[in-house]
Amino acid sequence: MSYCCHMKGHKDPRSLYQIDRLYACSHGLYFPPAIVEISPTNICNQKCRYCYSNGRIQGAEKLRDDILINCMGQLKQTGVDAVCFQGTGEPLMHKALPVAIAAGAMHSLSMGLTTNGALLTSEIQEEILQHLHYLKFSAIDMSSERYSFQHGCSSKQHDALIKNMIHAVEYRKKHNLKLGFTATIYLTPANYHDIYDVVKYFKEIGLDYIYVSEASFISNSPADGEFTSLTLDDPEFKPICDKIQTLADDDFSLFVALRSQDSLPFGPNHETWKPGFCQGIKFTSIIGSDGEVYPCYRVWGKKEYSYGSLYENTFEEIWKGERRKEIEEYINRTSPKSDECMVCGCIRHNIIHDKLNGATEWRHFL
Ligand code: SF4
Ligand code: SF4
Repeated sequence: MSYCCHMKGHKDPRSLYQIDRLYACSHGLYFPPAIVEISPTNICNQKCRYCYSNGRIQGAEKLRDDILINCMGQLKQTGVDAVCFQGTGEPLMHKALPVAIAAGAMHSLSMGLTTNGALLTSEIQEEILQHLHYLKFSAIDMSSERYSFQHGCSSKQHDALIKNMIHAVEYRKKHNLKLGFTATIYLTPANYHDIYDVVKYFKEIGLDYIYVSEASFISNSPADGEFTSLTLDDPEFKPICDKIQTLADDDFSLFVALRSQDSLPFGPNHETWKPGFCQGIKFTSIIGSDGEVYPCYRVWGKKEYSYGSLYENTFEEIWKGERRKEIEEYINRTSPKSDECMVCGCIRHNIIHDKLNGATEWRHFL
């Protein structure tokens, strides 16, 4: 059985499928977010060199079990379609996550989990895999030495990741599950010479889709780093990209996003920021490990920009509240101070939205 068909459409500009929300947005009508990211905890079992969460919040935070579990029903009630568990720590560090995922399934939410995979034991897999739309392993490498350096962890965590990944692939096959397995592989100074072998290794394990990119080291990251692809000459860089692409086939997809930093609409100097540019915050939201509902990564952890707290109100009350409109307006009239927007997934949505707004006068001539 091919699982790649399950990943079909994964690379498409998904914002374009949000026809009802796009219509509501452009006509100033109310609509619920399509997807909400939940950060069950900011506690992590790793200390990655590029971690965007590093130092954003002082102290360990964990969503109270009942808040994490009950918000799944609240999200469905509000009209949210999908949930991704990721955020600011390792989601599996929260012991109630499997129960929350089961609750999400009961409410027919589409769900994804991003994890470093070290804690994804066979027991946990048996509880959650059947309910997930996708499972994403973050920043993998086949070399335990390179992995433990990048992730600031012991090589035992790499051993556990590989073991858990192999089990997940076998478990899916045995139980005829439909979820997709994806992963990110970062090009680094240490692995660029055998990046083809790294991708091939994980393709052979059975992942369906791999995103080859580079970590964006930002001001919050514990270490400094540069974009490896920019340090390579074209005669060295191009064959690497071409060779990786030969691994793609009907059962395995690849998205190679190297040297793509130049296309970001606003980089570290945010010189191209435009007022009103960020419409993505109307389509997504974040529930932080502190129970606050935030618009996005840019202000995550800054309670003064929270829409409200799930410890005080339901998600629907918060989303329909006046406070959300005020914060959205503030974000859209204020340029980011630093590189906060560089790592945000809404960037692609904003580009698409901007294009739709500036639609050509030829648009009626179908
Ligand atoms: S990047 Fe993710 S896995 Fe790595 S330290 Fe940060 S939260 Fe943990
Ligand atoms: S692009 Fe920036 S302002 Fe917009 S949602 Fe992303 S982080 Fe927030």
